Amino acid sequence: MELNTLRDLYIDELKDLWSAEKQLVKALPKMAKAANDPELSKAFTTHLRQTERQVQRLEQIFEEIGESPRGKKCVGMEGLIEEGSELIKEKPDAEVLDAGLISKAQHVEHYEIAGYGTVRTYAQLLGYDRQAQLLQETLDEEGEADKLLTQLAEGSINLEAASAEGEEEEEAETTRGSRRSSKASEREVSRRTTVEGGRGGARGGSSRRGGRAKETESSAR
Ligand code: FE
Ligand code: ZN
Ligand code: FE
Repeated sequence: MELNTLRDLYIDELKDLWSAEKQLVKALPKMAKAANDPELSKAFTTHLRQTERQVQRLEQIFEEIGESPRGKKCVGMEGLIEEGSELIKEKPDAEVLDAGLISKAQHVEHYEIAGYGTVRTYAQLLGYDRQAQLLQETLDEEGEADKLLTQLAEGSINLEAASAEGEEEEEAETTRGSRRSSKASEREVSRRTTVEGGRGGARGGSSRRGGRAKETESSAR
């Protein structure tokens, strides 16, 4: 598809979002199943229902403009989902897994928020007011999903993960040096970063613990 006009770009981005949402419909049940905290699991299931409606909204828009939603794979979403499955495969402790799942899900929501904000604005510029309204509805849902994840993280899940980390640190103290596998050290690093991850949304894991995490990382080599 040639991209010569804003309308072309609009359609291209909509296809990307449609692909992203379709991938997410498949991934969310796995995240709900992996989550240990029942509230977190419920949040994923609720967002699955929302995501199905978001797919329908996009399809409604494609019908209105007489185009097909097919023809693009959202590789950004593919990568974000892949990072989620990598986390699950690592089999972290229950509390740490939940904190990590929140982090992965917030990456997804922020990615979608960027996409929907863009197409909503394009729709306004192109004079597609009804489409702009539909896209705004989805944008609002993504924002609410993100906020709920922050609440779950800050309410209890990050703290539970933080105390799981404490236990391991004590254990690590006693085995420091010889018997510590590099795998255990790697895990500890990823724990520290995920604990920071959920706080305040997308603020990242760069503060206080950064130095110590780095230390552990280099000792793992
Ligand atoms: Fe969505
Ligand atoms: Zn994409
Ligand atoms: Fe979403």
